[in-house]
Amino acid sequence: MKVTNFTKKGDVVEFDISGVDVAVLNAFRRTIVSGLPIMAMEKITFYNNSSILNDEILGHRIGLVPLTTDLKTYIPRVDCTCKGEGCAKCTATLTLDVSGPGTLYSGDFKSTDENIKPAYEKIPLVKLLSEQKVKAEAEAVMGYGSEHVKWQPGVAGYEIKDNGSFHVVVESYGPLPVDELIKNAFEVVGGKIGQLKEKIK
Ligand SMILES: [Zn+2]
Repeated sequence: MKVTNFTKKGDVVEFDISGVDVAVLNAFRRTIVSGLPIMAMEKITFYNNSSILNDEILGHRIGLVPLTTDLKTYIPRVDCTCKGEGCAKCTATLTLDVSGPGTLYSGDFKSTDENIKPAYEKIPLVKLLSEQKVKAEAEAVMGYGSEHVKWQPGVAGYEIKDNGSFHVVVESYGPLPVDELIKNAFEVVGGKIGQLKEKIK
């Protein structure tokens, strides 16, 4: 396997790779899209919402806000010993208390864990007029993109070139640095191939 022309610009990495099978590269792509766990806001309790958006629509927008992820402290809820109840190992809490006039941004969330917070501060969620308020509490849960797109950490694609090599582009949506995304994806693919090898033996 040979990697050349590696470039990194912000959250986007591009490189050429040769000496690798298309199936392995596709497994890498699918792992980035759906097989790497990250945090996202899952259960949202509204104590007050007098904005123009109803709880369901605003809750859906909030769920799609990318959160920075801490893989050392948290584990996916499906693998957690709490069996889906929610506990400190799989869940973090974020709160929101904003009054208009003004725009409610992703950065208005306050987190109980400084490692789990909106990856971008200026994602507009709703415009508030004077007298309008949003007060809410959200549970951030670690999950996989295979379950819902809000747990998709980024996107990866490749183009097959004439000489049989590939041009690969990977972009992180913000939960993890793009280089970590690539490293973790190769580790997951390598681990799965290793498991298969063991089973065949
Ligand atoms: Zn748990």
